[in-house]
Amino acid sequence: MASNKNFFTEEMKKKVIEWIQAKNALKQCECCGANAWFMSDQVVSPVIYAGSMVVGGTAFPQVMLVCKNCGNTKYFNVLVMNLFETKEGEKNV
Ligand SMILES: [Zn+2]
Repeated sequence: MASNKNFFTEEMKKKVIEWIQAKNALKQCECCGANAWFMSDQVVSPVIYAGSMVVGGTAFPQVMLVCKNCGNTKYFNVLVMNLFETKEGEKNV
């Protein structure tokens, strides 16, 4: 059963949005022109394919932003943001 546990607190989400805005990376949806996004409460990561699906190992944790109008979805790498400490207590890997 999938967990619905949130990764981001509201404060963390605010930091992420501020980071994206500071990079001038949050604009109108290129698909529908709307300017209404919501951010996922969880971190997502694409599954790596290396001849077969790889479970475990290298990951690319992403913040997911979804257009409220058309569903177009954008991903921003959490590690590039360097906003949060990892479980190991380091500020990135
Ligand atoms: Zn859209």
